[in-house]
Amino acid sequence: MFNFNNELLCLANEAKKALRERFEQFDEISRINTERVIDSFRENRVSEACFAPTSGYGYDDRGRDTLDRIYAEVLGAESAFVRHSIANGTHALTIALFGLLRPGDVLYSVSGKPYDTLDGVIGIDGNGGQGSLADFGVEYMQTDLNEDGEFNIAEIERTLKRVGRRVKVVYVQRSKGYMNRKTFSSESIGSMFKLVKSISPNVYTFVDNCYGEFVQVCEPTHYGADIIVGSLIKNPGGGMAESGGYIAGSKKAVELCSYRMTCPGIGLEVGATLGQTKSMYKGLFYAPHSVANALKTAAFAAYIFQKLGYATSPAWNDERYDIIQAIEMKDAEALCAFCRGIQYASPVDSYVTPEPWDMPGYSDQVIMAAGTFTSGSSIELSADGPLRPPYTVFFQGGLTFESGSLGILSAASEVLKIKKV
Ligand SMILES: *Cc1c(COP(=O)(O)O)cnc(C)c1O
Repeated sequence: MFNFNNELLCLANEAKKALRERFEQFDEISRINTERVIDSFRENRVSEACFAPTSGYGYDDRGRDTLDRIYAEVLGAESAFVRHSIANGTHALTIALFGLLRPGDVLYSVSGKPYDTLDGVIGIDGNGGQGSLADFGVEYMQTDLNEDGEFNIAEIERTLKRVGRRVKVVYVQRSKGYMNRKTFSSESIGSMFKLVKSISPNVYTFVDNCYGEFVQVCEPTHYGADIIVGSLIKNPGGGMAESGGYIAGSKKAVELCSYRMTCPGIGLEVGATLGQTKSMYKGLFYAPHSVANALKTAAFAAYIFQKLGYATSPAWNDERYDIIQAIEMKDAEALCAFCRGIQYASPVDSYVTPEPWDMPGYSDQVIMAAGTFTSGSSIELSADGPLRPPYTVFFQGGLTFESGSLGILSAASEVLKIKKV
């Protein structure tokens, strides 16, 4: 039993009232994205035959090839592929980077240091010899964001002019990930890329789109990005896909990536789907709705915790460009209580108590809460944070607002309990 106290239940009601208009906006975005999905399903004549599994080489897998076209259409790209066999977001990003970059090329990140798991892929983690981009002679350069969190346009211009044709990929991470910065809108990425192309027309403009899909009605590809990449255990899997990743973009860029995913000369011609196709279709069908629920859950949490006196990013009434919500919990006990509350309200493993642990590769202990149907899925309600000041918890997901908001109230209730003793 949850037994929330009256104070909290009143706050929840107040939050729902205050958020009514925001929720309508999330629903409207979901409606538009859903229409795009359904239109594409119809135009591509999706039928039960598309869900049939293939084995072996997987030649002529109609469901797979059709879903590739649908992904391209829905994401506003010329071409795309989506595969259950892409292990995670990092794998999808790795395929795309190795697909596009050649020895002597420069990979240029203009949104600061990419997501942690890419250190080893780029070869800036200090472990040479594992086959990173650096091992293959790809140079890495980076321009940090300005103090205000915006792109450092002047520095980007200077660097492109100075390094010139050696820059092959200009890289942006759309979501804040687990950093203390803003998330970029598709529009703002698009207009920065426009400037990039005016100086260096031959570069590939590249977006790590993780956590961003369907939060807006347009993706960076709608604004001309050459390639976007994401994970199916986040937004576009809709909570249905068992695993996977996608790459979407221009015909040429996607083709190059396809040669890295399988083999040069073979590309998208092979790849057995082993019965995974239906959950990927179903996931895309649900994705706009799941994302809207995750956004509602995040905004609800921001409201509740702001009223309880915590700093949140984004604030409850800010524009949102990804599904991540950060809350500064101020001390370790409150961070752990938050995670306990989330875990308790989860559909799976709700009886376990999350504890901080020494996660490999992190200097501080980390606590995580995830009671998800799909292991590690972060379109499902999940939370984590490193045990260091300001004890920020990052959480995301919530397949239904009913369960998501329950999780948030459960988290708030646990935090209030320890504050009272
Ligand atoms: C999740 C994520 C990734 C990829 O992480 P995986 O754990 O490999 O799926 C990359 N970039 C960002 C911004 C992410 O949020």
